[in-house]
Amino acid sequence: MKIGILKEQKKGEKRVAISPNIAKQLISKGFEILVEDDAGKASSYKNSNYTEVGATVEKRGVIFKEGQILVKINPFDEDDLKLIDSNHILMSQLFHISNKELVNAIAAKGATAFSMDAMPRITRAQDMDVLSSQNNLAGYKAVIRGAYEMTKIFPLMMTAAGTITPSRVLIYGVGVAGLQAIATAKRLGAVVEATDIRMETKEQAESLGAKFISVDNTGEEKAEGGYAKEASEDYVKRQKEAVNQSLFKADLVITTAMVPGRKSPVLITKEQVEQMKGGAVIVDLAAAQGGNCELSKMDETVIANDVKIIGTTIAPESVATNASDLYGKNMYNFLVHLVNKEGAFNWDLEEEITDGTLIVHEGKIRKN
Ligand code: NAD
Repeated sequence: MKIGILKEQKKGEKRVAISPNIAKQLISKGFEILVEDDAGKASSYKNSNYTEVGATVEKRGVIFKEGQILVKINPFDEDDLKLIDSNHILMSQLFHISNKELVNAIAAKGATAFSMDAMPRITRAQDMDVLSSQNNLAGYKAVIRGAYEMTKIFPLMMTAAGTITPSRVLIYGVGVAGLQAIATAKRLGAVVEATDIRMETKEQAESLGAKFISVDNTGEEKAEGGYAKEASEDYVKRQKEAVNQSLFKADLVITTAMVPGRKSPVLITKEQVEQMKGGAVIVDLAAAQGGNCELSKMDETVIANDVKIIGTTIAPESVATNASDLYGKNMYNFLVHLVNKEGAFNWDLEEEITDGTLIVHEGKIRKN
């Protein structure tokens, strides 16, 4: 079966869905790999790195014509759709709940589409979970970006000229990104605090050395698969009361709170920003879904009350080499899971991983 690796067209995107090392592993499993000219260039992978492992570099049109499985990171776009037909099996993130038009357009073409971001959160799918692999890097990069923007250092430093006290970092949301942010900020020597609506994250945060700020979540609903649901107004009020003291003292705040398929919850209002320290930095990793800070703007830095609010959507893209390797490895594990020994798709629609990720099957919408 021929896999076509497409070059990402989204502005600012540097990743590629399958890196040369993963292409090699797929070839050893019997797949043929076609890669669009310069698809890996922005993540430091040359065309020659792909050809060295046995892949073929082709122009965009050829990839669509010959590739049976088309792989991407970002959702297929209008230009892609013009070239898609009923023989194609598409694999990318689709964010299908908020991208209904795209799902309808794929179905109208009679194609088949899997969404990598719809991976069920079960143990055996952990190595196929692109949200985890990318959010892990995003959590790391958020701290590095914050450290770069701050006018202070992280660790305690005793010098002949005096003692520098450690910076204070506050993290909202102790999921995959939040846990990595805690670990990274601790390694750099900061005093770290964290909060989450899911109380089971307390132990995880504490095991990495953060102080957990507990907020009573009695009555709050939990979604399936370990995700959070939208918080009630009451919870939001309780959260502010519990966290404000730490927020107003923080040098760096990293927000990672998301609710799948919904706009991100606003956890820091304009009024709260007005009470923060001058020179503080907020890195909002939820900016693409509306942001956890009321003042965040996607892909922009807003300055209010001397607080820098960075609405970043490109944290994993900024470490594109590693991000591409991990995304590709997720995709490799997924493909190997979906096909039989002869390399043909199993199409076991009842199987949990297939069922969770298969959004359109031969033009029929299965989930929206
Ligand atoms: P996420 O990106 O959906 O959200 C990030 C964090 O924000 C979550 O911990 C969430 O509880 C929190 N949050 C949401 N609303 C909030 C609010 N109003 N206030 C404070 N915090 C709020 O989460 P995620 O990183 O995808 O992880 C969710 C869970 O799923 C984790 O426990 C993770 O370990 C688990 N997980 C399991 C698998 C697997 O088993 N295959 C894979 C990935 C993640």
